[in-house]
Amino acid sequence: MDYRSLLENDDPQEISYLYEEARKAAVSMFGNNIYIRGLIEVSNYCRNNCYYCGIRASNTHVNRYRLSKEQILACCEYGYGLGFRTFVLQGGEDPMQTDEWVEDVVRSIHAAHPGCAITLSLGEKDPESYKRFREAGADRYLLRHESFDSDHYGRLHPAGMSRDRRLECLRSLKENGYQTGSGIMVGSPYQTLDHVVEDLLFIQEFRPEMIGIGPFVHHHDTPFAGFPDGSVALTLKLISIFRLMHPQALIPSTTAIATLESDGHRKAILAGANVVMPNLSPASIRKEYALYDNKAAFATESAEGLEELRKELRSIGYEIIVDRGDYNKTQSIQKNTIEYV
Ligand code: SAH
Repeated sequence: MDYRSLLENDDPQEISYLYEEARKAAVSMFGNNIYIRGLIEVSNYCRNNCYYCGIRASNTHVNRYRLSKEQILACCEYGYGLGFRTFVLQGGEDPMQTDEWVEDVVRSIHAAHPGCAITLSLGEKDPESYKRFREAGADRYLLRHESFDSDHYGRLHPAGMSRDRRLECLRSLKENGYQTGSGIMVGSPYQTLDHVVEDLLFIQEFRPEMIGIGPFVHHHDTPFAGFPDGSVALTLKLISIFRLMHPQALIPSTTAIATLESDGHRKAILAGANVVMPNLSPASIRKEYALYDNKAAFATESAEGLEELRKELRSIGYEIIVDRGDYNKTQSIQKNTIEYV
């Protein structure tokens, strides 16, 4: 069956079968283990004006903050104690967080937690900057391509941002030896199923080590305030397709899914996801990193809610493990060799 008909298919039995096959593929690679990544939202200043995003530069209703190196290190310290072995530093494209600053933060985390993986998600940078961050100790980088179709990309972003530049950044990340993450929002304004098929084909060819997909969720202070939220059902279907297409990939059950459905993590894992990224930012600033309305950042979506998340995942037969969870090209993971928390 081609991708387009698979995306259009809404036969419940066939969809259950798709989820089941994807789940089996994930379990054969990773056992019943779920990796956790501690998400630290380092700044909500952004020079960009993406039409979908709540922290876009033109939104004057945002209380802007940026974390200091000391605050970030304190988050890592706290997360390490809870069992996190990957820290994800995500933020807007904040001009004050210079390359020197990022390098220094990465080096300091690396020195404090040499056994942990450091993931960056700081947007588009020059190849030279990616190289410097990598040399400082960053292992992974998340940069969703958002849409492979350049016209559609252009409807999501103002002039000055382009699909080609995005792809150049992704290529540069791979060249610099990062485990690279890409992906899309499902149901972003003006997205058609043909666009999604183009995204599938791009991912099939680019083979990112991480694939991040979540539904578009509107934010009231953006030009896309009036658009409907994306479909969780289509998001789950895509998780399954990506899992079958790329069995070793690290595929998160994203916050956007959990925001739209309280049972989102369980559903995404049962559709083939194998990563959850609880929020490890200081609780006081979480509400300011509002990419979209009602973004979940507490309870099972947070580091302090890890116990609750663990119970939720155990109820479907999965375990959170203490492990960096690197992309592994050759081996499936042996269930019994991993330390559980
Ligand atoms: N500045 C970084 C991080 C962006 S936030 C970067 O450019 O990569 C991370 C992701 O959140 C984005 O790539 C986008 O896909 C997603 N996101 C932003 N606004 C959203 C919204 N309104 N609904 C759902 N996802 C959104």
